[in-house]
Amino acid sequence: MKIKVGRISYYDDFRCLCGDCPDNCCHGWSIPLDDEALRRFRAEKGLFGLRLRLSIHGKENKVFAPLSLRCPHLGMDGLCRLQKKCGEDFLAEVCKEYPRSRMNYGPAAEFHLDLSCIHAASLFLHNRSTQEMIVKEAECSCELYGNNDDEEYFGRLQILRDGLISALREAGREGKEALDEALRRMDTGLRRIQDELLIHGSCSDWELKDEAGDLRLFPLPIRVLNDMMSSCFYEDWLKYSTPFLYKLCRLYYKRFDRLDYRKGAEELQRLFDKHVGEKGVSASVFADHAASLLYRRFLFSYEDYSPHLKLSDSVICINLVLLFTLLWAERYGTTGEPELAHIISVVERRIFHNEYARKDLLACLSEESRAERRKNS
Ligand code: SF4
Repeated sequence: MKIKVGRISYYDDFRCLCGDCPDNCCHGWSIPLDDEALRRFRAEKGLFGLRLRLSIHGKENKVFAPLSLRCPHLGMDGLCRLQKKCGEDFLAEVCKEYPRSRMNYGPAAEFHLDLSCIHAASLFLHNRSTQEMIVKEAECSCELYGNNDDEEYFGRLQILRDGLISALREAGREGKEALDEALRRMDTGLRRIQDELLIHGSCSDWELKDEAGDLRLFPLPIRVLNDMMSSCFYEDWLKYSTPFLYKLCRLYYKRFDRLDYRKGAEELQRLFDKHVGEKGVSASVFADHAASLLYRRFLFSYEDYSPHLKLSDSVICINLVLLFTLLWAERYGTTGEPELAHIISVVERRIFHNEYARKDLLACLSEESRAERRKNS
């Protein structure tokens, strides 16, 4: 059966940089192995088969690189030894697919690039102002995501997402204050919609009102950023698993660790005024990044009925990217596109491929947001 299949406009431009990649994805996480790949690997004979089997770890969920260091099959030339010897079809599914992500929701499917890949993040930056979904009727053989069959709700989510994305992009073009205002309005509106869905089982009004919450969302207050940087988003192990992110985190500790809240807030504002806007990185970069996150993640709420949570994910992500962009620009004079792509990729990798880190970050934001609402009630 044909369904609507959308793909992000720069999806087909992706080609893996292989040995030329500045931050190869074959280190920094454990690599999950699917059953088919395990069968292929276990069937290999001789020394090659033995070394292959010895590199498989885990009891139920089998992985390469259990400590999230370097994949044992990554050669010194930056190329995959398994692929070189046996071809791409031999690889585990995740290695063949990454960074492509294909989601089949039932009524429609969407294909995106995961920006935790540095080259996908570069493609996003080159195409950000024209990013859109190209939709065609086509067969889709991808596995279904979840089991929801409420097509009316799915349609509502798509309309809601399109509205959020155009509002974000318009706000980004207007500037940083407009972006903060738009995010706060979306935060209030989506919280109400999510509450109605989860408490009453349906939503009577899908329109976002003009009511904006009081908690600043771009940038987040320094106390929220401090909490996030004290959560398990950071760990010393990053030095080995994701050295670039480790370096960014050290820049943060060096600048902010010894400052109290008042001085920290002043320093954050100073960096924000200096490096975001006409003379620095445009606010539209962050708005387009938030839009990209909504393109990729908002429809997950088809399954969990949590559209507000998807906005919170985006707010957290663009704020960490913002923080590291400011720190990099202050330390090295400017944050150019290659560094920005690198920052986006390591932040997305840490948040969206480490569920415990993401949950910790969400808890920091929710705590502050609850405190703000209590103060005003
Ligand atoms: S990070 Fe992206 S470009 Fe680099 S090796 Fe991995 S898939 Fe290829």
